[in-house]
Amino acid sequence: MKRGVLIVLSGPSGVGKGTVRKALFEEPDIDFQYSISMTTRQPRDGEVNGEDYFFVTREAFEQKIADGEMLEYAEYVGNYYGTPKSFIDDTLASGRDVLLEIEVQGALQVKEKMPEGAYIFLTPPDLRALKERLIMRGTEQLDVIDRRVHAATKEIQMMANYDYAVVNDEVSLAVQRIKDIIKVERLRVNRVLPEYIAMIEELEES
Ligand code: 5GP
Repeated sequence: MKRGVLIVLSGPSGVGKGTVRKALFEEPDIDFQYSISMTTRQPRDGEVNGEDYFFVTREAFEQKIADGEMLEYAEYVGNYYGTPKSFIDDTLASGRDVLLEIEVQGALQVKEKMPEGAYIFLTPPDLRALKERLIMRGTEQLDVIDRRVHAATKEIQMMANYDYAVVNDEVSLAVQRIKDIIKVERLRVNRVLPEYIAMIEELEES
């Protein structure tokens, strides 16, 4: 069975990863799965447990780490965020593609374990736009915003670790660019070759 494609969408905080990811999944022709992350942060207004995140306690999260159940995790502005491993393994093994939307430290951990994935770095048109977007979101205190912007500056330097850079100048444009990347990824020789080898083997046997 052909394995699914792992797509990792990452980039600095406030660049609009969540917005772009949500818009991507609203497209009618999206046929990949979303990996729901686990976090110890409090739900924001309107966030639903099991849809936006699995919201858990620190103790529960640390137990998952100890049990080896996280593909990756990071501590980010005082909270844990991480990707449950079994969903990724099962989904890819069943041939379906899966998208992770995570911050950069976690993305690096995934890349070490699964270098065959498609690593997409979402970039802000400029840093000022990043700060404005964080302030406009209105959910964080100013000192938290400053910490996030400082973290973002460092994160941008990490673009070199990725396969693709997508500028988020407009959400709909970023979505189209990501869809194009996924189309191309599915055509990479190392993804289609096993299928052809199997076909040749069948021909040779008949
Ligand atoms: P927020 O608190 O705004 O929902 O997310 C904060 C940051 O954590 C964002 O950059 C988001 O992409 C990232 N994040 C969400 N889920 C995960 C995850 O499972 N692993 C890691 N490493 N980062 C995550």
